[in-house]
Amino acid sequence: MRESNVYVKALKCISCSTEYAYGKLFSCDKCHEFLDVVYDMESVAEALSKSRFGRGNSLVEKYSQLLPVKGTKPAVSLGEGDTPLLTSHRLAEAMGLKKLYLKDETRNPSGTFKDRSVSVGVTVAGENDVMDVSTASTGNAGASLAAYSARAGMKCRIIIPATASPTKLVQAMAYGATIIPIQGSVDAALSLLREAHDAWGWYPIPTSGPINPYQAEGAKTIAYEISSQLKHKPPDWVFYPICGGDNIAANWKGFKELEMLNMAGIPPKLVGVQASACDSLVEPLREGHERIRTIRNPKTIASSICIEYPPTGLAALRAIKESKGVAIGVTDEEMLEAQSLLAAREGLFAEPASASVVAALKRLVDQGVVAREDTVVCVITGTGLKETAVLRERYVLPRAVPATKEGIASAA
Ligand SMILES: *Cc1c(COP(=O)(O)O)cnc(C)c1O
Repeated sequence: MRESNVYVKALKCISCSTEYAYGKLFSCDKCHEFLDVVYDMESVAEALSKSRFGRGNSLVEKYSQLLPVKGTKPAVSLGEGDTPLLTSHRLAEAMGLKKLYLKDETRNPSGTFKDRSVSVGVTVAGENDVMDVSTASTGNAGASLAAYSARAGMKCRIIIPATASPTKLVQAMAYGATIIPIQGSVDAALSLLREAHDAWGWYPIPTSGPINPYQAEGAKTIAYEISSQLKHKPPDWVFYPICGGDNIAANWKGFKELEMLNMAGIPPKLVGVQASACDSLVEPLREGHERIRTIRNPKTIASSICIEYPPTGLAALRAIKESKGVAIGVTDEEMLEAQSLLAAREGLFAEPASASVVAALKRLVDQGVVAREDTVVCVITGTGLKETAVLRERYVLPRAVPATKEGIASAA
């Protein structure tokens, strides 16, 4: 039975296909895999019209037919999404590409694409009268949930590695969240969420599908927007940085939904970019198996994509494989180089984890995998403003000069 405008049929395990009713949290009880939200696509097709899709006052309103919301309460929104697809000129030239676009997710309210998923997650929580939310995060998802829970008047707790960027912690604290730094990785933080839920009822909204399958739907709106911004002709390639794997998996679903609804052409090939220190998807994709390895204590400056085991890795791996894309690992040095290219050639300041896509693109163009005529979109997931500590050595501030004409001439 449908409750108001929910078109959700069931939640279905991506591994064993067991179905669960709308409302279940966490993963499959049998195999602990990700539960995918399945829609009644016939009803969605009836309810949708191309002209109405994407219209509304919030992300949730714009795409409500393909999001797991009931619509019984106003969406919790801070003006997320609807980010520009910038045409690249000077970076495209440096790469030798004809058609390169940058999907600028740094413009979201808390500075990253996480706001898309979190707006959906907090809206669903509100519809269920939840007042107490929690997350495990490397930083950005925490800051995002802190912002949206403040907006909704909910209490927010964030379990986070103590090594997270101080700026991200301060941002979350400014929104009024309780920060719980742990002496451990984001992997440990994610498992503690389950224990906290069972012990004290904290409702989890991390941007991790195997914990909260509802928020996981939010990220696919990036695919909807890219498609519409390119006049319903998806590009040849879209590049995403991968941590848990949620964003790329959700985007693949989004592109496929549009194709299924005859609202866009053939989905693009997806490139998943990891830090080489934890490139757990590269080998399984190359060798054609699905056994994702845990990589202990990876070290990278790209904190947002630093993870031992990607919880949504299987869905991400299948997305890349089905799309005929690739996974690639890039080094810290390559990311820093790409970060300055992106900033100095396009005026877009992204964090190193986000710049990883530009580093990967450079390699794949050099290798001839991406052709110069191909249409390419790089999703620039988050702002560089929160990760300046890792740049202290790269950009040494010049000494102050006397406040005179001669003084500034000496430094110009
Ligand atoms: C979370 C995050 C990612 C990784 O996204 P996943 O959905 O976890 O794969 C990439 N870049 C930034 C800036 C992030 O905050």
